[in-house]
Amino acid sequence: MAPLATPPHRTGLLVIQPLKKRHCVECGTGPLALLVLEEGAPRCLDCADLGHLVFLPRGDTALTRRSREGSALSTVVVRFNRRRSRYERQGVLVEEAALARAEERCLADAEARRRRRARDARRREAEDLRFTDAFAREIRRLFPGCPAERARAIAAHASVRGSGRVGRSAAGRALSEAAVTAAVRAAVRHTDTPYDQLLMSGVPRYEARRRIAASVEARLWEWRDELTARA
Ligand SMILES: [Zn+2]
Repeated sequence: MAPLATPPHRTGLLVIQPLKKRHCVECGTGPLALLVLEEGAPRCLDCADLGHLVFLPRGDTALTRRSREGSALSTVVVRFNRRRSRYERQGVLVEEAALARAEERCLADAEARRRRRARDARRREAEDLRFTDAFAREIRRLFPGCPAERARAIAAHASVRGSGRVGRSAAGRALSEAAVTAAVRAAVRHTDTPYDQLLMSGVPRYEARRRIAASVEARLWEWRDELTARA
């Protein structure tokens, strides 16, 4: 029988996933999926009094930690990596009841996280609406001649990028006269001029902008004039 490499000394119980077919020296069961080495001799989990434990593969840190905390008896499970010449952790053996409790707590956490995300989403939605309202009001203040529905559409479009989710100060910056004017100018450019068609037909951007500049500014002047609003 080929000797097992000796696992590194560690405190606590260690269970091994053997690379070779091993049988229990005490009851003869085998080949063993998991074994315990006692003075170099392999024993099955039952003979080592660990038969009541269940295997929890590595990967879920919270579940592992909680399962071990809840288990009066638990062990680490290792397997020898030949290429790296070292034992590597595969998971733990824990009490089934502790694992069940840990799973419940992790599920509760996941549910709590899901509810929190839903709350956050609702809050962001409300913030977005408030931001859109504020943006639309600011457009109408600077451009009284801009139809209300146009102001609303421009504000909604700007909110997709600028909204409350970027924070209060950034939202404040987004509502500056320069930012609001830029948003209105961009909307006019794309909606009230042939700018997009020019770009699509291959006109360079600067040339397209040059061609439409006058009509964009004319529309902005028109909207700045309160008389237009009353007309
Ligand atoms: Zn045995």
